Amino acid sequence: MRIEEDVKLDFKDVLIRPKRSTLSSRKEVDVSREYVFKWSERKFKGVPIIAANMDSVGTMEMARVFAATGQGLGVALHKHYSLEQLIEFYEKNGNENVWYSIGVSEKDEEKLDAFLSSDIQKQGQGIDKLCIDVANGYSEPFVEFVRRIRSKLPDVTIMAGNVVTGEMVEELVLSGADIVKVGIGPGSVCTTRKMTGVGYPQLSAIIECADAAHGLKGFVCADGGCAVPGDIAKAFGGGADFVMLGGMLAGHDQSEGKIIKGKDGKQYMAFYGMSSSTAMEKHAGGVAEYRASEGKTVQVPYRGDVRDSLQDILGGLRSACTYVGAVTLKELSKRTTFVRVTQQLNTIFGND
Ligand code: 5GP
Repeated sequence: MRIEEDVKLDFKDVLIRPKRSTLSSRKEVDVSREYVFKWSERKFKGVPIIAANMDSVGTMEMARVFAATGQGLGVALHKHYSLEQLIEFYEKNGNENVWYSIGVSEKDEEKLDAFLSSDIQKQGQGIDKLCIDVANGYSEPFVEFVRRIRSKLPDVTIMAGNVVTGEMVEELVLSGADIVKVGIGPGSVCTTRKMTGVGYPQLSAIIECADAAHGLKGFVCADGGCAVPGDIAKAFGGGADFVMLGGMLAGHDQSEGKIIKGKDGKQYMAFYGMSSSTAMEKHAGGVAEYRASEGKTVQVPYRGDVRDSLQDILGGLRSACTYVGAVTLKELSKRTTFVRVTQQLNTIFGND
């Protein structure tokens, strides 16, 4: 047994220190980024925020609305759409801001293979971005899977995860991932930390993993734990190249869910982890015996059209850039100094 004594930080443990700035308005800030990916050699230009591949977030409706904003915002479609639905979606909407998601199951790979042999793929309008997503990215078979998919799809941009430490980021980048997804346990409907005791404070995970990835020309996507726009600013300030959002995008018209009337008379929508019993009952006919459910189900307030929430999110991010004098999102991490906040302050300001 060993104890790491270094302090590791979550979003709530820090604030961003303001800096002198020449900016007079947040309108002057450009929150898009441009990247060229190491393996696929494809270019990305846009706002590097991605909707998580969860039932009520990574929906086709979300993807249509995000695409219509013209800002390059991404959506990782959840894994439970049928092959026919996916092909039809790509045919009608194109692939510009869409990540096709898979796990490592045989069923997922069979569906992917079937898509790859479809006409839309042959015409070059099919999958060009792939998100390979497992709860625990530390297993050797997962790395092997990433390697195999990379050799099968040399020009597809691959995002793979999740991990939280630099050495595993390096292994995944060297195995063919263009982007490594970072986060174990921070998700708003995740119970991994409670059920297993495993996890890593998310801001430190981002800082350490970004450093490892950038050294190899890879990128990281900070996944989970952003509850307010300020958390997204902290993730980018810590070096994230992309940020993935679940809970912040749940509860909208685009969630493809039902509005429920609460006992208080207010409107809510269900939001659940993808390994919660709700998700497993819906998609797999129950919780498999060997596997504890590591996600929970909550009701989030119904928030109407996601376009309004997006405006808040991007407004917060622009404002954060203004406070530190970053004209572009790229400059944010260079201009970020985090100040540690004591637990007491967190309690007073209700950040806990
Ligand atoms: P949020 O933005 O809601 O804080 O976090 C979203 C992320 O939580 C997802 O992208 C995914 O990585 C993670 N997640 C989603 N469902 C589950 C689950 O059931 N269990 C765990 N451990 N993580 C989940």
